[in-house]
Amino acid sequence: MIILVINAGSSSLKYQLLDTVSGEALARGVAERIGLDASQIKHTKNNGEPVRLLVDMPSHREAIQEVLQVLTAAETGVISGMDAIDAVGHRVVHGGEKFADSALITPAVKEAIRSCFVLAPLHNPPNMTGIEACEEAMPGIPEVAVFDTAFHQSMPPEAYMYAIPYDLYKKLGIRKYGFHGTSHRYVAYRAAEMLGRDIRDLRIITCHLGNGSSITAVKGGESVDTSMGMTPLAGISMGTRSGDIDPAIAMFLMEREKLNAQQVDDILNKKSGMLGISGISSDFRDLYAASDAGNERATLALDIFKYHCRKTIGAYAAAMGGVDVVVFTAGVGENNDDVRQGACEGLAFMGIEIDPAKNSAARAESDISVDGSRVRVLVVPTNEELAIATETARICCKS
Ligand code: ADP
Repeated sequence: MIILVINAGSSSLKYQLLDTVSGEALARGVAERIGLDASQIKHTKNNGEPVRLLVDMPSHREAIQEVLQVLTAAETGVISGMDAIDAVGHRVVHGGEKFADSALITPAVKEAIRSCFVLAPLHNPPNMTGIEACEEAMPGIPEVAVFDTAFHQSMPPEAYMYAIPYDLYKKLGIRKYGFHGTSHRYVAYRAAEMLGRDIRDLRIITCHLGNGSSITAVKGGESVDTSMGMTPLAGISMGTRSGDIDPAIAMFLMEREKLNAQQVDDILNKKSGMLGISGISSDFRDLYAASDAGNERATLALDIFKYHCRKTIGAYAAAMGGVDVVVFTAGVGENNDDVRQGACEGLAFMGIEIDPAKNSAARAESDISVDGSRVRVLVVPTNEELAIATETARICCKS
């Protein structure tokens, strides 16, 4: 099937046109500065050189129309007309407790996504705008919502409940939801395929390490715990997010520094993590360059990150009564051998042993564990767009 994958943000709209049979992206791009001046589309056809097109896009509605135009035009296009698109798959960040699976868009599904706006006020509303813009521009073409949270709905209550008054869970939905679910699911299933094993027999720890990072325990193909929480701020430290801290620090900061909730939120989400510790950058390449040049705070930031990964891997092995496979994915997990090494340092006692030569040589999908070691450690590049396209095709064929 030919699937158009849409990831709509507040002023941008990423797209990819995929063939789910070959797994190939026919075209990809991003519409930027929607609703602002100098809006443009960066478009790449068949993995070629990107082209930049200056087009006026006052809203997501025009953005979708322009994207469809680019995909079908003589010069930039890869399909003859809109009717070549079998379905549209939308990334939707938060599905709350309402969605444990991807869903065909209907009026009721749209209403349920709207009821999750309060849980993801920055992400769900633009996701919905993208859905409605496609409905208008492509009437009759089925649309599917694929949620970042859905894969984690299988977590048991002891994993997703916070030990705060139960009424707050009932009244406000305060609980762990987890994110990056599409990626965790994709790499866990890919890992089982790579090993030629049935995923139902495996305990897998998936480490999605990028700008935002999360680690998930996948037992028998289901998420049983994950490091992000009610929001993506929780868990291991990240590019600019603190990850887990003593919750009392928020109140302490408000009182001592006379900050309001928004200012504390800003510190913890945008000024913490690798950036906050190093004072240099949130980007791991910059941190390694600084650390190599002798910057101690950059080294400390990296040490904290690796330690957080290591102890979460240990915790999730305990949560599953053992571990068979550890998977590294996303920008840092796929490309940085030192982070992988540090995340597994000292874990030989639980059968996790990385082969340094395989680790430094790892490109694309690879097994980097020592021959004969009990736990397989794999690098599996994530492909969230392909995962969304595959999900979309599955839901369309089912309904
Ligand atoms: P996002 O969470 O925004 O999707 P990514 O998964 O793209 O982020 O990860 C971005 C991070 O990956 C950055 O910190 C970047 O330094 C790191 N990264 C990307 N490519 C490489 C590379 N070749 N070597 C080392 N780090 C890399």
